[in-house]
Amino acid sequence: MTLLPAPSPPSLPPDLRGRFENVEWTPLAVERLAREMPKAETHLHLDGALSPELVQRLAREQGHEPLAGLPLAEIRRRVVVDAPRESLAAVLAVFGAVLPLLRDPAALGTVAYELVAAASRQGTRHVEVRFAPALQAAPGFDQEAVLDAALEGLAAGRAAFGVGTSVIVCLIRPPSLVDLDTNRRMVELAIAGRACGVVGIDLAGDEAAAPLAAYAELFRRAREGGLALSAHAGEAPGSGDLETALALGVDRLGHATLLGKRPELLAEVVRRRIPIEVNLTSNLRTGAAPSLAAHPVRSWFDAGVPIALSTDDPGLFAIDLPGEYLLLHRELGFTPAELATVALQGFDALFLPPAEKARLRAGAERDLGRLLDELAAR
Ligand SMILES: [Zn+2]
Repeated sequence: MTLLPAPSPPSLPPDLRGRFENVEWTPLAVERLAREMPKAETHLHLDGALSPELVQRLAREQGHEPLAGLPLAEIRRRVVVDAPRESLAAVLAVFGAVLPLLRDPAALGTVAYELVAAASRQGTRHVEVRFAPALQAAPGFDQEAVLDAALEGLAAGRAAFGVGTSVIVCLIRPPSLVDLDTNRRMVELAIAGRACGVVGIDLAGDEAAAPLAAYAELFRRAREGGLALSAHAGEAPGSGDLETALALGVDRLGHATLLGKRPELLAEVVRRRIPIEVNLTSNLRTGAAPSLAAHPVRSWFDAGVPIALSTDDPGLFAIDLPGEYLLLHRELGFTPAELATVALQGFDALFLPPAEKARLRAGAERDLGRLLDELAAR
């Protein structure tokens, strides 16, 4: 079926487009572009952002056995997913090793701070960080304190590195892991947290184990409360979550790889210009995409779907955002100008007021122009 005519996607301003032709695009020049061009990241889990080194440091500080006594190579074996696993659930199981380390305000603040430090090294100008306060809560450390600790770490990172931050609260499925009442409390916490940088909610966890439809009431409440909506949907087969997400009017879709098999839903996504949070390496490792060559991102981009390229879990997968851009280039044929277009689409996709996004995008375009001039002069 042919796609409905789409409004033109956000593209490069003409003066920038011309400057791409002045650069000799050697592999090294493309690498510099991927690393240094201004980027925004929209889909990044706090609890998936710990490097093995940070896991080791926190485990030692907390005397957390067995991790505290293990050599780094063994920690890496336990907390890094560096090859495809049999399912999304198999990848999610790895979080179990890391979560106990985060039930502590200082540790949570450290992880949040380090995440912003890493973002600044990757040319990221604004990062939306997501997590589920219910998963870090512990006796004496309730959901609200969890959110406060993370916000404090992010604020310290923001002050030190000049990277903007905001928070997306993840509701968690299935109910055997986090029940509906606890998820409901997270929605209220997120609404109350709007003044402190909470911008949206998401639904994460095993899509095959509980449908998004079971959380529809909570999504409606979040919307009423002024929050933006995203959801992991169409990442694992058989859930019907893509239909539900579209019916709920989500502002962005997470993963959505199964849209590749659902042209009628893709047409709707194109028509409404719903950005898709694309996580290439994650999709390979969870089996959501059999190969990068088979990943639908190329066809989405060509059809006019805004792409919000992200890492999902940079620590868990041992990756970074520039590396994901290089995958677009090397494996999916995105030209340097297309990489920059995706980077700018990332700013447009942020859950921020339009004026704030316009300000970020204008700064990104200006600095991208400077980078292109530098690359052309070499
Ligand atoms: Zn995710």
